[in-house]
Amino acid sequence: MVSPDSNSLPSDLGFNVEKYPLENSAGLEIDEWGPEKVLQVYDPDTGMKGVLVIDNTSTGPGKGGIRFAASVTATEVFRLARTMTWKCASAGLPFGGAKGGIIANPSKVNQVEWIKSFAKMIRPYCPSQYIAATDVGTTELDMAVFAHEIGDMRACTGKPQELGGIPHELGTTGYGVSVALRTTIDFLKDIKRKGLKASKPFNDLINSLDTKSNDIKVVIQGFGNVGSFTAKFLNDLDIKVIGVSDVSAFVFDENGLDIPQLMNDMKDKSKLNDLLDYSKNPSQNSYDILDKDEIFNVDSDIFIPAALTGVINDKTAPKILENNVKIIVEGANIPTTSSADQYLIGNNILIIPDFLANSGGVIGSFVEYQGRTEKEAFDLIDYKITNNVKKALYNSLQLTDQGGNTSPLFNVRKIAMETAKQIVYRAMLLRKGSISVAREAYARKEQIIF
Ligand code: NAD
Repeated sequence: MVSPDSNSLPSDLGFNVEKYPLENSAGLEIDEWGPEKVLQVYDPDTGMKGVLVIDNTSTGPGKGGIRFAASVTATEVFRLARTMTWKCASAGLPFGGAKGGIIANPSKVNQVEWIKSFAKMIRPYCPSQYIAATDVGTTELDMAVFAHEIGDMRACTGKPQELGGIPHELGTTGYGVSVALRTTIDFLKDIKRKGLKASKPFNDLINSLDTKSNDIKVVIQGFGNVGSFTAKFLNDLDIKVIGVSDVSAFVFDENGLDIPQLMNDMKDKSKLNDLLDYSKNPSQNSYDILDKDEIFNVDSDIFIPAALTGVINDKTAPKILENNVKIIVEGANIPTTSSADQYLIGNNILIIPDFLANSGGVIGSFVEYQGRTEKEAFDLIDYKITNNVKKALYNSLQLTDQGGNTSPLFNVRKIAMETAKQIVYRAMLLRKGSISVAREAYARKEQIIF
């Protein structure tokens, strides 16, 4: 194994392509962290095409959902697997990073047959090297099918409750996103309340939020599993959600949406635009329904992407800044491109990264894997995400204090990523089975800097 170079600055995903310009058979960049296996599968009987990427298993079997969508590519699955490597390490779980992908629109194929087919093809790796879960396009029922086909209930999490599962449909990820935001706001308010010393970027942020007191406004892009539950749990915390969007529309009320009512009205509908007909009925609630991209044109304090990858990019980042957004909490996986990330941080926007903020689902998965209860899952999500977000913010605060008011240090993603890398790096050394290498690693603990 190559020891990472302390002078090299990793990109936001942690690859160092310049230093490791190798390619594996799927044409993906490989680096010092992985991927360990890239499996492209095809079943001529059903026509199913899929990809499994097992990125890094040094901290345990690779954990990651199965994405079922026509747009799935090996590169996307790899990037998502890498995010899982950092997410599981950050959350201190005995899992590594992996991801599955099935390439088709699930509503246009025989979904059950394709899930069975994918399971059959990857069976040798489950659950010893890969433990599946739901992701975009897959549900708890797919997990029931998958576990039965593998013949082992430990092959996946997110199963229906009847099979001992803790389905993601309970909203564990959205709950975690709400905990991440609550922790961030509490942390910032605490600095002011306790009169702690903080550098300019933090102070500016604290002051701008402080003047708002309890009138902090949130918009959420995506109203699926993650987005809708984030809205629900923020509403429980009395944090005002003024707009939510999905693929069809943006629903907005500058005084705050009635989230329980909205969730109830959406029960028998598949997309927000369906509320349009509903609003025409005078006996029903009425909604202000706008074009979905209007979410980038309204003022808010907090922006939560909970839909697609790469939605915060060079085009949308300046709009987010113009709208006076102060904090971004990443509910979706990899929603911010590298350049947008740098631009926003450079303009003192605080970003709570995906692998910290949306780890509620995988923490819940771990509790399911251990055969424990739903209550324990929610408690552990609260405990871990509160601690992890706080720790990253404290480290960031300390660095900005030491370094004056330079905004690049205002980078929670980089700090949290370094912690995750330390964990994975040590596990990789230990896995090599070389006691002397491990001993040396512990001895040099403080010197392992990326
Ligand atoms: P989902 O399919 O339930 O919901 C996705 C939502 O995004 C839908 O409301 C859809 O209409 C909306 N959307 C699609 N295109 C859009 C667009 N152009 N503009 C606005 N909205 C759009 O998916 P999900 O499970 O909620 O996952 C959302 C994101 O969160 C994904 O990036 C996923 O990888 C990530 N994530 C999910 C979980 C989980 O437990 N479900 C855990 C961690 C991360």
